[in-house]
Amino acid sequence: TQRFIWPMAQFGQIINMYQRAYASAARIFGLMDETAGIDESPDAEELVVADGRVEYDDVTFGYEDEPILDGVSFTAEGGDTLALVGPTGAGKSTALKLLLRMYDVDGGAIRVDGTDVRDVTLASLRDAIGYVSQETFLFYGTVRENITYGTFDASDEDVRAAAEAAEAHEFVSNLPDGYDTMVGERGVKLSGGQRQRLAIARAMLKDPDILILDEATSDVDTETEMLIQRSLDRLTADRTTFVIAHRLSTVKDADTIVVLDDGEVAERGTHEDLLAADGLYASLWGVQAGEIDDLPEEFVER
Ligand code: ADP
Repeated sequence: TQRFIWPMAQFGQIINMYQRAYASAARIFGLMDETAGIDESPDAEELVVADGRVEYDDVTFGYEDEPILDGVSFTAEGGDTLALVGPTGAGKSTALKLLLRMYDVDGGAIRVDGTDVRDVTLASLRDAIGYVSQETFLFYGTVRENITYGTFDASDEDVRAAAEAAEAHEFVSNLPDGYDTMVGERGVKLSGGQRQRLAIARAMLKDPDILILDEATSDVDTETEMLIQRSLDRLTADRTTFVIAHRLSTVKDADTIVVLDDGEVAERGTHEDLLAADGLYASLWGVQAGEIDDLPEEFVER
């Protein structure tokens, strides 16, 4: 009976792994409750990203009747970093969920290299976009499985290179079983900074054309903060990046800053432009912006 039980047990494990992976995808993207009503056009084509230029053209959207985004336009040029800032509830996350097609726009369009996101397959769209969120979700599995999740055919060398670029290799090597260490719910507990770096490693490995970064305001020590910043710099270099920014350092270095307020673009420009304009952005940051590390409280909590 041993012979029969063993392969069945293996098979069960594989199923279980897929279920775990699927559950995590659903949680990472909120796909389970958030793709209802999203249809793929019968003649949808594969998205082929060339420059990675992303254009929001007069986008209007509301979850129900109430408008959340009201004629929003902005463009991220290929390879640029575009920071979305604004008070809680301004519509920043919503705007980026529309790029992933968790919801569809009510008016206007979002285009990647000129192609409306509604005209491409959902799989190719989501393949092209990486997502690193504030709350990193690790499923119960090995470190390696957590890094390779979403990427097929990754070799051990690829995984290690991604972990190195994410400043994660060192702490992973110090775990009891290295890359085979079980993490997630019943596994080894990792710190917030370690989880973030695994998420960055996962995105590195996926190597998407477009990256969405929901920046964390985590309380990590200065050294961890520096490691995270360094790995994020590597991750965002030469790829179109949208960041929901909570840190002045990120915002200052962005190619474009879009200030959203109450579903509308209040201001846009570089850090210098917006300080010079002396409008909402400048008043939100304060005149001695260089001394402020985090957004002022009233900016975050309206
Ligand atoms: P931000 O990211 O700028 O904090 P969000 O895009 O998360 O803003 O939210 C914009 C508005 O949309 C808020 O009023 C929020 O309550 C509302 N909202 C967000 N998600 C949903 C949802 N799934 N259903 C209904 N309303 C939502």
